[in-house]
This record gives sequence, C-alpha cells and structure tokens, in this order.
Amino acid sequence: MSDIFNRSIKYVKGVGEARARILSRLGIYQVADMVNYFPRDYEDRTVLKKIAELTDGEECMVRARVISGITETRPRRNLTISKAVVSDQTSVLNLTWFNQKYTAQKLRTGSEYYFFGRIKRNGMLLEMHNPVVENIDTQRKATGRILPVYPLTKGLTQNSIRNIAENALDITRGKFAEILPKDLRKKYKLSEVNFSYEQIHFPGSFSDMEAARRRLVFEELLLLQLSLIHLKGESVRENGIEFKPVSMEPLLDKLPFKLTDAQQRVFSEIEKDMESSARMNRLVQGDVGSGKTIVAVMALYKAVKNGFQGAFMAPTEILAEQHYKSVVSYFDGLDVSVRLLTGSMKKREKDEVKELIKEGRADIVIGTHAILEEDTVFFNLGLVITDEQHRFGVRQRARLSAKGENPDLLVMTATPIPRTLSLVLYGDLDVSVIDELPPNRKPVKTYAVTDAMRERVYNFIRKNVNEGRQAYIVCPLVEDSEQIDAESAEGLAERIRDNELAGLRVGLIHGKMKASDKEEVMRSFVERELDVLVSTTVIEVGVNVPNANIMVIENAERFGLAQLHQLRGRVGRGEHQSYCILFNQSKSKISRERMAIMVSTNDGFVISEKDLELRGPGDVFGIRQHGLPEFKIANLYRDMDILKDVQRAVKEITDNNLLGINDEYRALKERLDEICNKKLKELSFN
Ligand code: ADP
Ligand code: MG
Repeated sequence: MSDIFNRSIKYVKGVGEARARILSRLGIYQVADMVNYFPRDYEDRTVLKKIAELTDGEECMVRARVISGITETRPRRNLTISKAVVSDQTSVLNLTWFNQKYTAQKLRTGSEYYFFGRIKRNGMLLEMHNPVVENIDTQRKATGRILPVYPLTKGLTQNSIRNIAENALDITRGKFAEILPKDLRKKYKLSEVNFSYEQIHFPGSFSDMEAARRRLVFEELLLLQLSLIHLKGESVRENGIEFKPVSMEPLLDKLPFKLTDAQQRVFSEIEKDMESSARMNRLVQGDVGSGKTIVAVMALYKAVKNGFQGAFMAPTEILAEQHYKSVVSYFDGLDVSVRLLTGSMKKREKDEVKELIKEGRADIVIGTHAILEEDTVFFNLGLVITDEQHRFGVRQRARLSAKGENPDLLVMTATPIPRTLSLVLYGDLDVSVIDELPPNRKPVKTYAVTDAMRERVYNFIRKNVNEGRQAYIVCPLVEDSEQIDAESAEGLAERIRDNELAGLRVGLIHGKMKASDKEEVMRSFVERELDVLVSTTVIEVGVNVPNANIMVIENAERFGLAQLHQLRGRVGRGEHQSYCILFNQSKSKISRERMAIMVSTNDGFVISEKDLELRGPGDVFGIRQHGLPEFKIANLYRDMDILKDVQRAVKEITDNNLLGINDEYRALKERLDEICNKKLKELSFN
C-alpha cells in the first residue's frame, strides 16, 4: 500500500491541529482511517422537483429564480433571519435562513440557482429552511448528487467531515492496492477496490454504492474469518469419523408425529456431515419449540448404530435430567442404552456409570459439561451434542482431542443472534436452521399491560392454578445500588406469597443462589410441588415444564426483545393455551413499540431484527460481551448473505491452501499477516 495512507490525518487539506484532535475521537488518526470511516447513511440530492409538487416535511432540490430582494432581520441577539422568494414555472417558494446570512447574501435577484432543503408548509405558504444553494453553471458539490452522512462527534459538522473525506479521497485516488484476487472478485461479484472506496463515500448512484458496500463488507468479513483461522492455527478440515448410512425408520416409526420439512432438511445436512470424512462441526439453530431435540436424538441414533458412543450435554443438571427422560422414551425398545451422569449423583452411582461408559456398555451419556471434564473415559466416543450452549469452542475441542477422541460435534441453540455471531466467531462452523414450527402449535397469547391490571393478572393466575396449571413470574435483575421502581424477585415473592397469591405455593429462584439450591427449586417446580415460580432470568435457558401456561414478566421494558422471546418460549409447550403477560412500567414511546412487537409476533427472527432496529447495533444481544471486534462496515444482520458467501470463499481458500501456494493471493496473505500481528492478538474466543 502506498505510504500516503499512513500519513497523519493533518496531511489532508482542511485538517489542522484542532480538527485532528476532534477526528481522533472518532478513531481517525491517519489518512487510511478517514477513508475507512464509512458513511452510516446517504442523502439523496439528485431528485429535482417542481415547486408545485412539494409536500410538507420532504427534503428535496428545486431549480428556481430569485424574484425578490434579500431581506435580513435580527429579532434578537444571536439570531439573524434572512429571507428570499424564488419561483420556477409552477409556483413560488419562500426561503428562510437562520444565522446563515452569508449564504443568502450570495444570491442575486433575477438569477437561477439550485436549492436543497427541507420543506415546511405554513398555511398557504411553502417554505424551505436553511437551503443549500448552488450556482447552476459551476461544478456542483452539495446538490445534484448523493451525499454521505457520517457518524459525528461534538465539534464536527456533517459538512466539514464531508469535505475532509472528499479531500482524503482526492489524495488517495487510484492508490488503493487490490488485495482480492481477480478470480475471487469475479466469482463473488465484488467490485474493484478503488471504485469501491470512491463509491462508498460519494456514490454516483445507489446501485454503485451497493456494489461498493458489498465488496467492502466481503473484504472485512473475509479478513476477519481468515485471520481467526490463522490465529487458531488449525485447519478448517479436521479428519473425523466416516459414519455409514443407517435406516432411521425404527426410530421414526415410533414417533407420535411426522418430522417437519425443516427438521428433515436439517437432519439430512447432519447426515451428510457425519458420513463425510471431515469432522462435523455444525450449529443447529431453531426457535424455541421448533423440535431440535428429536434431530439430536436422530444423530445419536445414527452414531450408536454405527457402533459409536454419543454424549449429549446440557448447561444445567435439570435440563440434563429432562433430556435424559425424553431420550430414554425415544429409544424405548430400540436396544440403545442411555445413561445419565451429573455432578450431584452419588459417587457410587457415578462410578458405576463411568465404568459402563469405559467398557462401551453405555451407548449414550447425558449430562452437564462435567461429563467431558471429569475423569470420564469413553470406549469410542463418536458424537458430542451440546444444547443451548454457544461456546463449545477451541478449548473444549482441545480437551477432547487430548483424551484421544475426535468426535463429530453438534451444537443446538435457540438464540437467533449467535447464529450469525458464531459464523463469525468460529469461521469453521456450519449452520443449519430449523425455520419452521411443528404444525398445530397454539401460539402463546401475549398481552402488554400496566399496573392497573395487576389485580386481574393475579386473579387470572389463581384461576389457572386452580385448574392445575403453573405460572412463572420473572423479574429483572436489580442491582442493590439501583434506585428504580423495578421489583426485585425477592421482594415480589414475599409480597404475593402473603397477599395477592396467599394460599398458593410460591417458589423463588435467583442468580445469587447456590447452583444446587437453584436446581432444587427448579426440580420442585418441574414436579409440581410449586404453583408459581418467581425468578430472575435464570430460567431463561431451556427448561421444559409443559404444565406451566402463564409467563408474567415484570418491568418488561428492561429486557431485550430477544430475551423476552426466550422467556415466553418457556410456556406454550403443552396442550394448554398459554399466556405471556408483559408488565410495562415505562411510558416511553419506544417501550410501547417494543411491547407491540412482542404482542404481534411469535417469530424469533422478526423479533431480533426489530430489536436491532430499535436499539441500534452495538449492544444488541450483548455483542460486546462476545469480545467481537466492532465492524467498520459489516452488519451481522443485514449482511447474512454476504457472510455465507464469505464462508464459502474461506472454505475454498483453506481447502486448497490458496494462501500458501497461489501467487494471486499473495497480497491477501500479506494483509492477513499484518492484521494478525497487530490487532487480533487481544481477541479472546473462549
Ligand atoms: P426445542 O427446539 O425448543 O428444543 P423440543 O425439541 O423440546 O423443542 O420440541 C418441543 C416439542 O415439540 C416437544 O414436545 C416435541 O415432542 C414436539 N415436536 C418436535 N417435533 C415435532 C413435529 N415434527 N411435530 C409435532 N411435534 C413435534
Ligand atoms: Mg431444546
């Protein structure tokens, strides 16, 4: 790369000490930082309108003649108002500038100009406020084209950063080095690098901008994924077990239902992985209730019928026990031996199970993560499945490999965002999506209510409990220091136990309790020794209590939409009509909108996407917590398709070792080395 990119930003026309200091707050120190500071949006100043067509509130451009003198008034100190009247053949427009008298003073009565600004209708009068003015016969910069809109910081105007960007592009034009090989660009329809930088900042058209954006997003994601692989120091394609085809009929014949198309498709993807010589490393994403368990069971069946053992891990003991029960019933009569192994079992029982595992007399082991960490020795482990667990990463794989095992890996999750995140985090993970719910599900009825409804809600719970149902009440986590109205789980449980729900069996579970105590409370709820479970979000992950049909969420405005969706997924699991009641204690418009989304849809993907729109990227689903770098241009939601292409490209590159042997890839390789040496060292994955 030409060294102009490494020059200080002060090298760019229009940037002195003061500006440089302001730009540093945006992470812009060098010329390269400026050209890589991408617009967050664009302003279309290409559409020319007739004055007669203008409507209130729209931003637009007109070409018109000044038909009045320019007037100037100073209604108070610090305020100068300039006015002029212009017209085209269709109508008359009043222009008003606030504290911009120099713009107004440039105008000459009788001359024609372009004006761009926002329209305001004032009774019969049409006004444009603070219009941008340009001569009709000189080269236009501020009208007649698409202008970038950059994220700003205090002391920096949109106009000045536009100028700086334009000046930076002037001195770098034609000097961007192409690091993407021609073939790759052709195959994935990626535009050339110089074109892309020009068009992303000052596009000639929106389609050029899209093309530029595609290329830059692709490049960003490609570099990230390749460098992750580079850093992991392992190849994408590890050798695994080649499982043989197995008839699934004995298992499927016993099911009380038919698989959905999505389940079938996902299982055939798993089958293909298992039968290939490469090690399976697949993530199955499916909304709550989409039926992931049976897909896991099918994979286990295939492994067992190939003579291998399978491990199925859950994040909590209670979930492990639930899986154990359902897996045992699925395998009933199929000559498969299933064992449970959890930390809280008696030592003698554990030893017994471990012995069976070691001798290969247990086909399937179900438990918590501990089953891989403890001194469990497998006879021939062929498949490991983790449920609701996004971080079965490098370390765990290393641990398995260290035991001399190289099983296929399958990860199941209901959380929609980690699907994309994990693609990025683990560049080598394949993804399957169960994007269909089993038929005849009764959707959960959702209501957003205020405190005024409290009494009715408690009466409703009491009525359902009397009919034999159970209810959850979830409170947000409340820090002791927080001076807010949010109810703490503890306080609420005490209150309703003594008052509103007196006589019902109310249990409490919260994050500060010991794991074993939590498990104990959960167990009593599962076994219907409790009618109502008050909790913080510890129940978020995967418990299955089909008899529970009410989910009440306190201070729902304090939860992310995706989290609300997960919580709601705890009900609607049995034959009973289920309800989700959201107490919204906020009067803000945005929380009302968010509640409205929850009421209107049960689709996790729609919800997570809306969540992103309302909250903006950044802290959605705690992206930051995942230790991901912030993207300069890629957006994990919108750019899913590009991400998939990138994944394919990464595979081709690594499978064929193109970085090692192909000269066309040398520039890319050099850039990767640079990145790996510099930035990514601090990134932690697990
Ligand atoms: P999740 O994806 O949330 O783990 P589960 O695997 O627990 O979902 O399935 C939820 C429920 O749906 C279970 O009771 C299961 O028996 C049922 N189920 C799964 N697949 C189907 C299907 N194809 N048709 C009808 N019911 C199904
Ligand atoms: Mg599940």
